[in-house]
Amino acid sequence: MKSKCTRREFLKDGAILGAATLAVSNPAALRADGPRTSAAPAGVARVVASANGLAAVQRAMELLQAGADPLDATVAGVNLVEDDPEDMSVGYGGLPNEDGIVELDASVMDGPTHSSGAVAAIQNIKNPSKVAKLVMERTRHCLLVGPGALRFALAHGFKEENLLTEKARLAWLEWKERLSDRDNWIPERNQNIPPGLAAAMSTYGTINCLALDDRGRLAGTTTTSGLSWKIAGRVGDSPIIGAGLYVDNAIGAAGSTGLGEANIMNLGSYAVVQDMGRGLSPEQACLKALERTAEGTRRTGRLSRPDGRPNYGLNFYAVNAKGEFGSASMFAGGTYAVHDGMQAAIREAAYLYDK
Ligand code: ASP
Repeated sequence: MKSKCTRREFLKDGAILGAATLAVSNPAALRADGPRTSAAPAGVARVVASANGLAAVQRAMELLQAGADPLDATVAGVNLVEDDPEDMSVGYGGLPNEDGIVELDASVMDGPTHSSGAVAAIQNIKNPSKVAKLVMERTRHCLLVGPGALRFALAHGFKEENLLTEKARLAWLEWKERLSDRDNWIPERNQNIPPGLAAAMSTYGTINCLALDDRGRLAGTTTTSGLSWKIAGRVGDSPIIGAGLYVDNAIGAAGSTGLGEANIMNLGSYAVVQDMGRGLSPEQACLKALERTAEGTRRTGRLSRPDGRPNYGLNFYAVNAKGEFGSASMFAGGTYAVHDGMQAAIREAAYLYDK
């Protein structure tokens, strides 16, 4: 006969098990469990985002407080960053792929309806998060990619735009010209950049934004131009549900920024939400997902340093259904943006490794 346990008992046991596992396997998690984790009263709206999302959390909270749907609020928040040419990791102004073409990835997930939509490797559309929301609302699919995603956006009235700013084009050109001295691309003379530096430079960045409204509705959005100089068609974690974003309205929401490949192979956002469901705090759950990812990529080989630590950055952000929130980064120094209903602020993230 199967033994039954109520959801409440399951959560209680999960909390004990989760905390014990964390304490044994991850001393850093205990060290990090401090004032960064918020314990908030229930029924209060929250918006949590990556560090580039201070304006986004402000905007999303204004909308929540005006009664907007949390998914609309997160999309409107990230649209500010997608539209900003100075943020070279998202939307317009994002760094291009190795061919000099900007390709964007985005996903949305709605807690109450447990539905998601996403686009990947879409070109010429400034706000892929809006297209991702339409994939959720106006198709029976979850993910559209490349030319199909573009045609779908055009069918819904989006306009094609050149997303490559002059600044991003020059950065790409410098990378391209310095990549090899055995090809036919030659860097401009007298440029004072040490040889090899630009070639080694591969940057990443993304915005993830999560919202909880005072009716207990959760939602999230993740949007990015992905890794700079990526191979055309490369898709990162941002549009992959369970990796770059996951929402379970009964438990919480989580999202990520950082090296997508490491996260896809370990489905971090799903793991964060599941661990919150077992009773871990958002911060503890983020740390645990980082630990699992570091362990997974240690086995992968090429994603670890000689000392066994990861050779990439990764960050998780989370908010639970009670309004508690937290974030953790693979290495010290990470921050994130939060609006707690009173004010928007940048907070220090917990971390797994000091360096
Ligand atoms: N996660 C993104 C990707 O791998 C990049 C980033 O967040 O920096 O595409």
